[in-house]
Amino acid sequence: MDDVTQRKVVVVGGGAAGMLAAWAAAKAGAHVTLLEKMERLGTKILISGGGKCNLCHAGPMDDVRNKFRHNEANFLRNAFRVFTNDDYLKLLTDKGLEVYTRPDGRIFPEPPADAKDVVEVMEAIVREAGVNVVLGAKIHGVLVTNDKAIGVEMDDGSRIGADALIIAVGGSSYPLTGCTGDGWKWMASLGHTVVPLTAALAPLYLEESPNWAADWSGVSLRDCVLRARAVNAQGDKGKERMRWRGDMLFTHKGISGPVSLGVAREIAEAWPESSLAEVDLFPDMREDQLREEIDKWCLNYPRRSVGALLESVAPARLARPIARVAMLDMEVKGAYFIAKARQRLVVALKGWVLGKVRAVPLERGEVVAGGVALGEVDNRTMMSRKISELYLCGEILDIAGPVGGYNLQAAWSTGFVAGQAAAALPRTD
Ligand SMILES: Cc1cc2nc3c(=O)[nH]c(=O)nc-3n(C[C@H](O)[C@H](O)[C@H](O)COP(=O)(O)OP(=O)(O)OC[C@H]3O[C@@H](n4cnc5c(N)ncnc54)[C@H](O)[C@@H]3O)c2cc1C
Repeated sequence: MDDVTQRKVVVVGGGAAGMLAAWAAAKAGAHVTLLEKMERLGTKILISGGGKCNLCHAGPMDDVRNKFRHNEANFLRNAFRVFTNDDYLKLLTDKGLEVYTRPDGRIFPEPPADAKDVVEVMEAIVREAGVNVVLGAKIHGVLVTNDKAIGVEMDDGSRIGADALIIAVGGSSYPLTGCTGDGWKWMASLGHTVVPLTAALAPLYLEESPNWAADWSGVSLRDCVLRARAVNAQGDKGKERMRWRGDMLFTHKGISGPVSLGVAREIAEAWPESSLAEVDLFPDMREDQLREEIDKWCLNYPRRSVGALLESVAPARLARPIARVAMLDMEVKGAYFIAKARQRLVVALKGWVLGKVRAVPLERGEVVAGGVALGEVDNRTMMSRKISELYLCGEILDIAGPVGGYNLQAAWSTGFVAGQAAAALPRTD
């Protein structure tokens, strides 16, 4: 710490990136004030992973990084090298919070611990590092003189000066968590490019369609593939935009669950071009293999009805809708289930078009895609290339990873880099 003096660092936003940044800056010797507009820290962390908090993803950091889009992965290279998933987990386990890894690589606190315990531990390490935490502190704007950040203006008009300012105010989804997109307005007014914002990791709202009904709400499909497709000139299935494999949940407005989150960003980005949602209930089988299975079933159960077959391959509430899509008579017995009808069933099970996507609600997304353009931020320090001593970390940046702990990892790692750099004397290169 030879080149570090007691710099006055102000961090705005007490979420994932802000807490990590404040802790890292204090550990690096700075005098740190953390300003959070809500009456508690980490409100969004509390609802993460359905309250369980998917902390990060297991595996080598290059693998974690490569789950992001190419330009985001490049930007994150340094931060993911400097502060890894293991580094973050060590912070928690050193404070006695045990974690476990699911077979799919997602890491959570070991139950009964959950997101509340994560926030508690984070708050404890921040306070123990000597950070001055101010809650209920809504920041109105950033103070800049001669292209250098010098502090912030509070909502009541008072000002707080800083040698270095870290902005970690997150995105604009779930605004009740305190995230109302304030940072993007500030950055745009300072001359930063804000890449257009779209929903990512969000549910899909579907248009009214004979192939989907609001009263299926609550029905889930295990391990299916959801494909987002363009609509062709005939209003029919066009080219595939994105696919995601996992579980799917019907809601009263459309669909949700991992597969919906997985395709949401591509659908939102294609807007105003329409997208169709199409589901494959048998992703491990080719059409001919599924056809063979249905043929076998008909041989084995000649007296059972097609309705019984459908209930054996899909949730009972979906048997009738699938029969309608495939134009099948549910009462027909296996022995009389003709070849053409069997083929229509195969086609329906492998590519059931639920309908057009009406909306991908940005405010319901786990993360917002778009944000401060990455080319305008130095990824070695997270400092703005336009305003010196202004550091940006977390979701305010144009980064949106997939579901699986990737977004919190991006917040932890970029927060750490910003904190360390803000506490150090300015670079001269
Ligand atoms: C429902 C849901 C579930 C999620 N689950 C997961 C998950 O399991 N795993 C995962 O990796 N990611 C998950 N995410 C995404 C993850 O929570 C975010 O990527 C992450 O919190 C972003 O961190 P951040 O620090 O940038 O922003 P945030 O954690 O959102 O923190 C920003 C903070 O800034 C404060 N703030 C905003 N404006 C001001 C202002 N003007 N003045 C002062 N303070 C201000 C806010 O109150 C907030 O506390 C989930 C998100 C949601 C919405």
